[in-house]
Amino acid sequence: MNLIDRFLQYVKFDTQSDELTNLTPSTPGQMVFARHLKDELKEMGLKNITLDENGYLMATLPGNIAGRKVPTVGFIAHLDTSPDMSGRHVSPRIVKDYDGGDIVLNAEKNIVLTPSDFPELAHYVGQDLIVTDGTTLLGADDKAGVAEIMSAVDYLIKHPEIQHGDIRVAFTPDEEIGRGAHKFDVGAFAADFAYTMDGGEVGELEYENFNAAVARVTFKGRNVHPGYAKHKMVNSMRIANQFIIMLPRWETPEHTEGYEGFYHLVGMEGSVENTVLTYIIRDHDRDRFERRKKEFEHLVRKINKEFPGCCSIEITDQYYNMREKIEPVMYVIDIARDAMEKVGVTPKVQPIRGGTDGAQLSFKGLPCPNIFAGGLNFHGRYEFVPIPSMEKAMQVIVEISRLVAERQ
Ligand SMILES: [Zn+2]
Repeated sequence: MNLIDRFLQYVKFDTQSDELTNLTPSTPGQMVFARHLKDELKEMGLKNITLDENGYLMATLPGNIAGRKVPTVGFIAHLDTSPDMSGRHVSPRIVKDYDGGDIVLNAEKNIVLTPSDFPELAHYVGQDLIVTDGTTLLGADDKAGVAEIMSAVDYLIKHPEIQHGDIRVAFTPDEEIGRGAHKFDVGAFAADFAYTMDGGEVGELEYENFNAAVARVTFKGRNVHPGYAKHKMVNSMRIANQFIIMLPRWETPEHTEGYEGFYHLVGMEGSVENTVLTYIIRDHDRDRFERRKKEFEHLVRKINKEFPGCCSIEITDQYYNMREKIEPVMYVIDIARDAMEKVGVTPKVQPIRGGTDGAQLSFKGLPCPNIFAGGLNFHGRYEFVPIPSMEKAMQVIVEISRLVAERQ
């Protein structure tokens, strides 16, 4: 089976993850997909295939170099798709030789993928694109990555003249709900370093991500009949509002880019008696990140000066910038860059404005930058993937495998 057939088959598996189940994998569909991949790996002849009860599938393509020790490189992709949009009954369609105009995804529902909303489409004129029917996401995030890894392994098996060391592959559950690395057994994976194939557009290479925390700010009020409330009522929602406007107005996701951090109000739930604000705090720079958290505590103290005992806060770190773990092993990035250039792709190194499983894995001792899988407009009905981008990603995996073995 070729890369595209694989991809089209994989998107048929409904593997949407679910934050609320507290199970691993969070949904049974992911395990169904993992079992399918396991059988496929077995058929291809991979070794040490393991699928644990949490849905982590690992396997080895043994090296074909005798008498010389070569580092073990890993490739990782995730099984699940985003909870943001249905991944059930995905019916992909191939748009041949894209002409640069509107793509009608669904005529009946008038859903159109148009360059005026998505100017990136212009980069893909003349290419074959895989799109949705407008009712589901596509699942290129990250089934493109899965298909690329499977096909690269298949290619290496069929081209024994390409010399490579041991290659480890892993497919993991629940990346989209932030738990993909939680139960990943880095010791069992036993790679020297790895790459997640989970980036977007062709050329993306990422080894910097946000430092991330979540803050829950609670405001306690006092409810009294409004007719008798003078000097008695304390409205926690109004105090919460005061807190919201004390934060710098422009340091929000919609006003920042590149290395600019932000505070992002993701939830508010309130009554007169009790209001809870949930924020996420993000910054690439560790010092600035710590300062942002301090700023929250400072504002809580300020509120409490005016309304004693009203406000409390709970801040939990979520993940950290992997840069500090990659810098000591920069050759991992150099190899990926060289591999891209070898297959005619210009590397685009950029900071991720989010996290990746690779960031958490890097802190667990497995340096793990992120490489493009090729798709765009993830997590929604406008998701699409250019076929040549997927082919390039697959070639990058093959090329990395070769370069790792060549480097000594
Ligand atoms: Zn992804």
